[in-house]
Order: sequence, then C-alpha cells, then structure tokens
Amino acid sequence: MGNSFDFSLERLAGAGVPVPQVRPAPQPHPGREERASDGGPYKGQTDGTDLKVGHYRDEEGLAGLKPGTYRGENPEGGLRAGAAEEPKSTDLSGLKVNRSVCATSPGPSGLRVNRSVCATTFYLETFGCQMNDHDSEKVAGVLLARGYRRVESPDTAAVILYNTCSIREKAAQKIFSRLGEYRFTKKEGQVIGVLGCLAQQEGEKIFARAPWVSLVCGSASYRKLPELIAQLEAGNTRITGLDTDTDETFEMEMTRRDNPWRAYLTIIEGCDKACSYCVVPFTRGPERSRASASVLEEVRQLADLGYTEVQLLGQTVNSYADPSARRMRFSELLVAVGEVPGIRRVRFMTSHPRDFGKDIVEAIEAVPAICDHVHLPVQSGSTAVLRAMARTYTREEYLEKIAMLRGAKRRISITTDLIVGFPGETERDFAETLSLMDVVQYDGAFSFKYSPRPNTPSLEMEDAIPEEEKSRRLGILQARQRDIQIERNARLVGEVFEVLAEGESRRENQWMGHTSCNRVLNFTSPGKELLGHYVQVRVTSAGPNSLVGEAICGKEIE
Ligand code: SF4
Repeated sequence: MGNSFDFSLERLAGAGVPVPQVRPAPQPHPGREERASDGGPYKGQTDGTDLKVGHYRDEEGLAGLKPGTYRGENPEGGLRAGAAEEPKSTDLSGLKVNRSVCATSPGPSGLRVNRSVCATTFYLETFGCQMNDHDSEKVAGVLLARGYRRVESPDTAAVILYNTCSIREKAAQKIFSRLGEYRFTKKEGQVIGVLGCLAQQEGEKIFARAPWVSLVCGSASYRKLPELIAQLEAGNTRITGLDTDTDETFEMEMTRRDNPWRAYLTIIEGCDKACSYCVVPFTRGPERSRASASVLEEVRQLADLGYTEVQLLGQTVNSYADPSARRMRFSELLVAVGEVPGIRRVRFMTSHPRDFGKDIVEAIEAVPAICDHVHLPVQSGSTAVLRAMARTYTREEYLEKIAMLRGAKRRISITTDLIVGFPGETERDFAETLSLMDVVQYDGAFSFKYSPRPNTPSLEMEDAIPEEEKSRRLGILQARQRDIQIERNARLVGEVFEVLAEGESRRENQWMGHTSCNRVLNFTSPGKELLGHYVQVRVTSAGPNSLVGEAICGKEIE
C-alpha cells in the first residue's frame, strides 16, 4: 500500500495560512438526483409524514456551531450568484478573494466570463454512492481553496462539474443527457468538467460525444485536481486526468462537508477484488489505504469542530490495510475512532463478506460508539451465481458471517445489496436468493437488475436474462423484502432508541433522525433546537421503511 498524499492547503494556495476545516451551514442539495443509494429503506424515506431528510433550518444549524468555526459558503445568506458587484471578502479558506471580478472581466482564475456568470463560481453535482458524495466534498474544498465560491445553479457558474457514476447503464445515460443540454445552453466562458467513474470509463470519448466538455478526470487522479484546474484557468479546453496507476489517496485538509453533524472519511480507495460485473476496479484503481495516524488525526479535528458522527468509507472498507508501521487492522481502527472523545457514532460502509471477521463484531460489542449496523452485500443467494460473479465466497460462507453477527452480544442490524438477472441466473438460483433473504431477515436491502457495463468480464457472458424477466424477479424480491421489513420493524414498537435529530418538519414539533441501527425514526417532541442533538425516542408505530415515535422526555438529552 502506498503513502498518503500531502494535499495541504498551503500547497494548494501557495499561502502559509493556517488550514481550517470547513464546517458548513446545513443545507439541502438542490438539483441533486434522488439516487439508488438514497432511496433505500434507511435514507430519506418516510411513512406518510411530510418530514424531509436534509430539510434543515439554517438558524438551528448555526446555533450548533462552536465560536470560531467556519460556516462554509451559504448560498442563501451569502453572496448572490451572478451579482454584478460583490464585495472583497475573506473566503472561508481564509484566503482573500476579489469578488468584484464577477461578471466584468477575466477573473484571477483567468477564465473569461459572460456577464451572467461569475468567474470564480462553481457548480458541482454528484451522482452515485457515498464515496462520490465525499469525493465531491473534497473537490469543493480544492475549489474553495483557490478562491472559488459554490453556487446552486449551473446557469450562473463559471465552472460546472459533474461527479459521475457508471455503476449502471441508466446512471451513465442520465449524465450524458445532462451534458447534452449544454449543446445549446453553454454560456461563453463557462467550462464543463466530468469527474468520477463515468469520466474514467469513457475517457476522451466524452470529448467526442460532448465537445463542449473541457475536463475529464477519474477519481484516482483527483490528487492532481489543483493542476488540472490551473490548466482550465489558463484556457486549455482538453484536459484529462485518467491515470489509475497510483498508490496515493485523495486527502484534503480542507474539505467542504455537506452535513453539519456527520462527517464522511474515506479510509481506503479503489478495489482489488474483481467482481465480474463491477466497473470499480477499472474506474477507481487499485486499493490504497490511508495511514491510521492520519485518519485518527482527522477524526480528532472533526470532533473538535463539533461533529459527533463519522462514517468510514471505502468500496471494501473492511479490507483496510494500514500502510504505516502501526499496521492497524480495520477493527482496531474502528475501536480507536470510536474512542476519540466527542465521537458518539461511528459507521462504516461497505464491507466485503470475505474480509469480514469476528474481530469486527468484537469491536462493535466492545465500543458503544460503533453503530449497531453492518451493510454486508451478498448480491445473490446462489453459490453458482456467486461464483460467476467472482464474489469469492459461497452461500454457506456468507451465512457463517451472518451467524457471527446474529450471535453478537449487541443486536446488530444487517442490510445488503442484491442483484437479480445476472447472466445465467436460473429460476432455481433466484429462488435461492429469496430463501437466503428468508434465512437472514435483512433489515434493509438495495436491490437492482443486473446492468452490463463496459470493461467488465460479465459483459461477455452468455445467457443474458431478458429485461422483462429481470423486472419480474426484482418485483418479487422487493415485495419479499418489504414484507420482511414490515415484520421486523413492527417488532420494534415500544422500544426506545437514541436518535440523532437531523431534520425537522414544517409541522410543529416533528423531527426526523437515524437510530444507531440506521433506521429512519420520525418523532414528535416539544423540545426546541433539537437539530444535531441526540434524543431518546419511544417507537409508537412502524412502516416498512421507517419508524414513528415520540421523544420520551420531550427534550434533547445532551
Ligand atoms: S468488491 Fe466487487 S462489487 Fe465491490 S467494488 Fe470491488 S469489484 Fe466492485
């Protein structure tokens, strides 16, 4: 495993200023797609209330900030996008930014601008998984460090970036259709960049398909982003960052975090597995882990800034291999993160079954801060299909891991990913997936139809399953999972959970948050200013995708 890359703000900006972490004002993601990873049972779904995930009230979020912390840019209360005259101010990075260049001249960036856009503005839209979400936070950090300001509409942005996903064909089509809109609407001076998995997968072909795109950069090359952006600013229009041959991770001392209480931390990038349907090893490159000391230092900084929940990310997060002399195992890192003062919740996503050992269960048992939820993708319940998928475990081996989790001293909720219609999947194979679901009793599942992707071995496989049949199987599987969830959630009525209040309803006294087991719990409380606080809530009713309850003391407990 390689070394981490020193991506300090000093290097980025050439300034010897102290490097702040940006703690943002809470805000929704206007214009962002509802994505598969958002649509699962525990993210954003509600049962008949008008609560919305991410519907934060600005004032409450700010009230939670410690004096002297940085707020991040505020699209509502801050500078208006496209304003003709804006004051000189100190940017969030602490760098002086000349706002008066907007709409009048080439900015310090050198970008020529149209009167309706501001030379130092960027728009960044993210598709796909949480890894992409977090990559975007770091990309935003790079741009903020260069004096850019984020705007919420591409219409007024000088730099428009799409951080893309190519895991399924539909996702890729959506991005091309978004790019296609610029054939007629791209304004003079605007530059458009494609980042992430689709960029890596399609490479320079994107220029041929959408000649108005100037930057194509895969995630393994993000460490070069400052140079690439400098080239954009110099007026170059065909810039690529497509290397995957790297042992470096994309670390940013300045990360523009989008959630005021929960911070994502990528601890391992890329993937060394070779699942036959998956583009990730191709688009994100080989596995490379961050040094444990660097991870822990960042967690301590986050705790100092008031974050209470951290989520450790990696395509195969539990394959973490500390490149430093400490050689910390993933389970040891989990424990160390969970013991950082101020951190109340540690989540991790996504675990590969092959590398999931008893030591991880023991870590969860030992450290209360480690959440009682494990996402353990199985993909299929048939050993024959698992073999064709090159998942490196059998049905029986997977079930052994489940038995380990179910036997834990603490109740651990288990969620998974499932694919139906993999080439050659017989009716019997599919029945085995359904029977596995019956055995495991997942608390939630993300389920998908198999989607053939370029640069994957399964593309060449025979016995493709017709689309209608895939849809039929998916419908059956989702109905089965819904029934399981209804039953499992109903059993929780009467129990008390600690909930991190993350959203509030327009209706008075109604709040939304997640339990440690990652269920959405909508609750009533006469308490005020609950956002960002942990509340004890008794469950009063349950639906397939979320719980309903009431705070037992009416006030936050913290
Ligand atoms: S473990 Fe398999 S599915 Fe997951 S990222 Fe790696 S290759 Fe893709």
